[in-house]
Amino acid sequence: MLKTKNSFLDSVGFFIAAGGIILFFIGIFGFDHKMKQLRGGISGTCPGCGQAAFFTLMVNYDYFHFFFLPLIKYHRQYIAVCGGCGAVCQVEESVAKEIAAGQRASFRPGELRLLRRAAPPSGQCPYCGHPNPPGSAYCNRCGQRI
Ligand SMILES: [Zn+2]
Ligand SMILES: [Zn+2]
Repeated sequence: MLKTKNSFLDSVGFFIAAGGIILFFIGIFGFDHKMKQLRGGISGTCPGCGQAAFFTLMVNYDYFHFFFLPLIKYHRQYIAVCGGCGAVCQVEESVAKEIAAGQRASFRPGELRLLRRAAPPSGQCPYCGHPNPPGSAYCNRCGQRI
């Protein structure tokens, strides 16, 4: 009888300990996401706004970490952000590496592939401050073009 009770308490203790260990490992190991700026001021023609603009080259990656130490980086993606309109474009790794290494300072036509356009501008009127719905062309209060 006493033996049964003890083994029951032992197994409860075991499950609490196992749960604690699992939580501990989830805390120190994990997957995370990071974005790092590689270089700014790269010229090119933006596929988002169609204008000649300066871009910021960034690298975007997921990684597996132990404490704060990134162990494995994977799913790397190079992107360029238009300084004019904020559009996000994808860049081939070979192109990104040449630019990051300073071998050139511009994107050639066709090297920027539009991933997403900039978020629609907030509808706030710059003249009177009226909060119009996002994407409004004219202010609902003062009638100025936004
Ligand atoms: Zn643009
Ligand atoms: Zn207004």
